Amino acid sequence: MGKSMAYFKGENIPLEEAKISIMTHGFNYGTGCFEGIRGYWNKEHGELYILHLAEHFRRMAKNAKILFMNLPADIAGLCDISVQLARETEFNQDLYLRPTLYKADEVIGVRLHGLKDAFHIYCAPMGTYVDIDRPLHLGTSSWRRIADTAVPARAKIIGAYINSALCKTEAIMNGFDEGLFLNEDGHVCEGSAENLFMVRDGTLVTPSVADNILEGITRSSIMEIAERDLGIKCQARTIDRTEIYIADELFICGTGAQIAWVSHVDHRTIGTGQLGPITEKIREIYFKAVHGELPQYSHWLTSVYGTAAPGRAATLASTGKVVAS
Ligand code: PMP
Repeated sequence: MGKSMAYFKGENIPLEEAKISIMTHGFNYGTGCFEGIRGYWNKEHGELYILHLAEHFRRMAKNAKILFMNLPADIAGLCDISVQLARETEFNQDLYLRPTLYKADEVIGVRLHGLKDAFHIYCAPMGTYVDIDRPLHLGTSSWRRIADTAVPARAKIIGAYINSALCKTEAIMNGFDEGLFLNEDGHVCEGSAENLFMVRDGTLVTPSVADNILEGITRSSIMEIAERDLGIKCQARTIDRTEIYIADELFICGTGAQIAWVSHVDHRTIGTGQLGPITEKIREIYFKAVHGELPQYSHWLTSVYGTAAPGRAATLASTGKVVAS
């Protein structure tokens, strides 16, 4: 139930009517940045929860600064636009919001200055991005992650995703589930569209933000869960390729990927090759949290429908279940 829609030129319209010219600067040169945001449907609550909505727009505002772009509203305003759009879709299923800020002029000439910005969001249903019900086999990519001195990986820049596409396609064509990027100095970076964590001797370790990674929002959420709920120490530091091979546990994470566990890298078994206890606990808490089932994580969520969900039973409002604001 529901229909995909877009916030386009200041209005909410059916997705198929939201069209841009083939001359658009952002399309021709990749001059823009975007976000990927998930909404989780909780059938029992009759509610759609958008995950880390403000956090995504805060990251977008930082990316906009790097690219000399301006968002059309402040963070609260962008959140309002998104909630309104999601509400108008009337979806009662998991969804995805894709806000994009880009150079909109229909001109030839690569640059960032002296061009006008445009912003839109589309909202469509979303399933899994990588398999989360079976272990993944990662292959180290022959492509290196883009360096901050060339194309900043911390900004979700449209054109930068050719780097991810090269990595992903190579991995799939070579029979792996996902690629593992090293950076130019040979240290472990991230997946094509996911951050990475390993467990070594009970400590959770992830590459540092200065190692050419996207500063992932799921990555921060996992550190929050590990430290707050599990009392596990987290380290963000440079990781060698062979540390991954001898890790006790390994998983990748992201808005799309959620938390996917890795049993093999480059044909080597990670730990026992089974889902490790720390990964398992983190996954359990994460999936409950994103579905609005843990009050201590209600600050991650924005409710789309309140009491106005399509088909929502009136009695649900009084069940006392978490409805985050
Ligand atoms: N790295 C890259 C390259 C990505 O595209 C993504 C997905 N946005 C991530 C990491 C994970 O980031 P987040 O948790 O904010 O979705």
